[in-house]
Amino acid sequence: MKSSVIANVVEHDLCIGCGLCAALCPQDVLSMQWNRYGEYNPVEMTPCTTECGLCAKVCPFSDTGENEDTIGEQLYGAVPGIRHRPETGYYLASYVGYSEEHRPTSASGGMATWLLEALLTEGVVDHVICVAPTGDPERLFAYQVFDTPEDVRTGAGSAYYPVEMSGVIRHVLETPGRYAVTGLPCFLKAIRLAQQRNKKLRERIVVTVGLVCGQLKSRHFTEYIAARAGVQGDVAGVRYRGKSPDHPASNFYFSFTAADGEEHKIFWSEGIAEAWTNRWFTPEACNYCDDVFAECADVTCMDAWLPEYSRDSRGTNLLLVRSPAVREVLERGQGVRLDPIPVKRVIQSQAGVVAVKRRHLAYRLYLDRDVPEKRVVPERPKNPLLRQEVVLKERMRVLSRDRWGAGERDAEHLREAIGPDLWRLGAGRQISKIITFPVRTLRYIRRKVGGNNHG
Ligand SMILES: Cc1cc2nc3c(=O)[nH]c(=O)nc-3n(C[C@H](O)[C@H](O)[C@H](O)COP(=O)(O)OP(=O)(O)OC[C@H]3O[C@@H](n4cnc5c(N)ncnc54)[C@H](O)[C@@H]3O)c2cc1C
Repeated sequence: MKSSVIANVVEHDLCIGCGLCAALCPQDVLSMQWNRYGEYNPVEMTPCTTECGLCAKVCPFSDTGENEDTIGEQLYGAVPGIRHRPETGYYLASYVGYSEEHRPTSASGGMATWLLEALLTEGVVDHVICVAPTGDPERLFAYQVFDTPEDVRTGAGSAYYPVEMSGVIRHVLETPGRYAVTGLPCFLKAIRLAQQRNKKLRERIVVTVGLVCGQLKSRHFTEYIAARAGVQGDVAGVRYRGKSPDHPASNFYFSFTAADGEEHKIFWSEGIAEAWTNRWFTPEACNYCDDVFAECADVTCMDAWLPEYSRDSRGTNLLLVRSPAVREVLERGQGVRLDPIPVKRVIQSQAGVVAVKRRHLAYRLYLDRDVPEKRVVPERPKNPLLRQEVVLKERMRVLSRDRWGAGERDAEHLREAIGPDLWRLGAGRQISKIITFPVRTLRYIRRKVGGNNHG
């Protein structure tokens, strides 16, 4: 049987495009390129002659025999005071907070950028690898290596756009030093798998900063939303997390720069939410991810999607810390507001993502296909509305991905084609609200009588 990542992962449409395979290939035969869905995949430029299989062994979606629990155990299992929950993986401490200075340009509370800058200024690392705009319409964002806090700040904000790490990982292999790297859960899992097999990566990547992730989006997602915002032709630049004092943090906006220099703005509630939450333009691999909280990261940053914080348009972070060294940097924090918060609240803040990567995943695995083993057991949910939700969202995901991938790039037509499924999903939600109304009311009364039990 072929052991390559192309045969085992890419040909099964399970590649997330992280690029670790291309960076580590001893023969250097893999190159990361756009596929027709606007996602990155490795392409074999010249035939592989050794079939060493290293490319598959560092792939987060291949059958390596490792998962986020086994990797997390090796990394953090022996840390004094460490705890573990099935939803979060290992954690040492959890915080809520922000950096007032970084909030205006950052996605949420600016803690990720603050931390990366602090790691540099305190001499914990020599270089930071994070994602920043490129100015190239063919590749709007890319992983880059920065050596100063000023440069790191150019990467502030979330890139809901494909990026790949082959170039920066090759740089780490060639250039000694200590690096901090940001990444989505699957990207950091790939780094950890690579570190198990490569001493230079083990020694040089000394801090990993994870981001909670509901799903990655293809390049076509940006094109679709830009079209909804009124952009005609190419997008020259995009900022995904604009903040407006008139809106809560949860209703942020995307602002696009069109090729003619004109700016176009669209709020989350004006069409982004519908495409985001219904999984339009989401890669197939995301259907089989069971890591919400970037369990292989030394620290994970996320939005504080809790009512008491999400009303504040300036943005607030929650953080889960696994590394004692990172906790020290955070606790010394100058210019940041950081308070402990129970891990239960952190999990609650991501309830939607936890449902998708647990209950929905269980049904997708039950329905679907032969994928490498997950930590979630395949199961058919009893609730027919939940089953309907999973099936409808999958149909929308496939339709959006296939149509745009086939060159049918008309945003209005796509929305019309998806319309009936959107309607069915909305009707299902209404029915669910009516059915669960008595249960929710009872819970509310119990909470009021029993007091706050968020401990
Ligand atoms: C695809 C995606 C999905 C997400 N889903 C969720 C979610 O469901 N729930 C939630 O709470 N949070 C989610 N996040 C994380 C959230 O958007 C913020 O990144 C997080 O709250 C940190 O905010 P901050 O203000 O501290 O970060 P900032 O100070 O803005 O810094 C963010 C850092 O992350 C880097 N970065 C940005 N995009 C990427 C990327 N694609 N890959 C690697 N590094 C990157 C930047 O270069 C920067 O260094 C997601 C992020 C992404 C990119």
